[in-house]
This record gives sequence, C-alpha cells and structure tokens, in this order.
Amino acid sequence: MTTDLERIKLVAEHWKAEEVLAWAFATYGDKVELATGLGVEGMALLDIAHRINPRVNVFTGDTEFLFPETYDLIDRVEEKYGIKIERLYSDLTPEDQQRLYGKELWARDPDQCCDLRKVQPLRRKLSTLDAWMTAIRRDQTRNRATIRKVDWDAKFNLVKISPLADWRRESVWRYVVKHNVPYNPLHDRNYPSIGCTHCTRAVQPGEDARAGRWSGFRKTECGLHTEAQPSTELVQLTAVEGD
Ligand code: SF4
Repeated sequence: MTTDLERIKLVAEHWKAEEVLAWAFATYGDKVELATGLGVEGMALLDIAHRINPRVNVFTGDTEFLFPETYDLIDRVEEKYGIKIERLYSDLTPEDQQRLYGKELWARDPDQCCDLRKVQPLRRKLSTLDAWMTAIRRDQTRNRATIRKVDWDAKFNLVKISPLADWRRESVWRYVVKHNVPYNPLHDRNYPSIGCTHCTRAVQPGEDARAGRWSGFRKTECGLHTEAQPSTELVQLTAVEGD
C-alpha cells in the first residue's frame, strides 16, 4: 500500500483533476468523501466530482458562525445537485463555548476557537474515512505551496487528495462561470476567501486574497491543512477587524 501510494503520488502529478477524482472514487469507493469550505474552489471541485460520481458524499464544517450567504449557498447547492451536504458541528454550542472559554474566544485565541469548532469535528469525521478530497491550491498560501495532488495526510492519518492543486484562481473562475456553478455572492463583494463572520472581512485593492481572514493575527490557516498548529501571534493590538 505504501509503495503503491508512493508511486501514485508521483504519477498523479501529471493527471488532470478529472483523472485524479476518477482514480479516487475507483480506489476508495464510499471511503473517500469531499470536504468543502464552500469557497469558489470547493464549488468547482464539487461540480467536477458530481459529474464523475453523482453519489459523491460531501461534508463541510459548520462552525455556527457562517455568513447567511454561506448558509443560503448550502441550500442552493443541495437543490442543484440533489445531494445533502453533511454538516460537522463542534461538541460545544456557541453558548457552551462562551460559558467555558469566555466571550469572543476568536478575538483572543483563534487557534483554540478553530480547534474546537473546525479541527476536532473534522478529526472525528476523517477517522471514519480512508481518503478525503479537498479543493486547496498551491498558490493560496505559503503552507500550501508544496501540496501534492495525492499524498499521505500525517496529521489525520489518511490519504489526502487535492485535484486542483495546480489550478490558478483564474482557471477556477473560468470553470465556475462556464459551467454555471453556484457560488457565494460575497465573492463579488471583495471577499475572495470566506470563513466565519467574526474572522472574515472584505479585502482592499492590492491586498492578498487571504488578507481578510483573521485580520490582525499572523494566522492564515484554520488548522485543517497544516501539519502543526498555525501561529496566531498578534501583529496588531486591535482585535479582529471587520466584525
Ligand atoms: S474562523 Fe474564527 S470564529 Fe470561526 S472557528 Fe476559527 S476562530 Fe472561531
């Protein structure tokens, strides 16, 4: 298995997204599922995956702090594709979290908040699978620059498949427009990357696409796609902007 995966890791780098997905479904069957954060990349990947396997299982982390536009997108996607997106929740309701960790944990310790509301639910879900598919791309963050299309995910102990690893943002949008794929309208209002309401703001002209996430913290990842926990060293004394 290990040798086989080592070989596929190399070969898959030459495959198109469709070929990677077809291999994933043929190899892992019901034990591979698609994770989406409901961004435009995730919508493109879902559309491609659904063409190949209309029974594809899709899940997303619902932190209970998402934008109304994001919840509306879930409804539109479920209707268009005739699927049910599984929502992963924290064990703690927002009220439990406030009682146990104090008010606005995201403004003081976003790593812990992301761990409670995103990473732990994902870890529980991934422990039931052999492989997961994500829409991350190499040019999104420094952490993602070296991702492979197929790789072993040592953090969660399963195979991680990223068919869009070598896509550029422009190719994603070309695909979405051409195929009339639903997407979050916040993308049209200067939100290139969308997470929780507390930790996402619109970007200004010239800013990096992910500058609107955890603004004020040196944090660019929620911890799902990093080996180690990301640093959240405070770079400004202001709390999270854009709330
Ligand atoms: S993005 Fe912000 S509000 Fe959402 S889980 Fe992470 S720290 Fe908490």
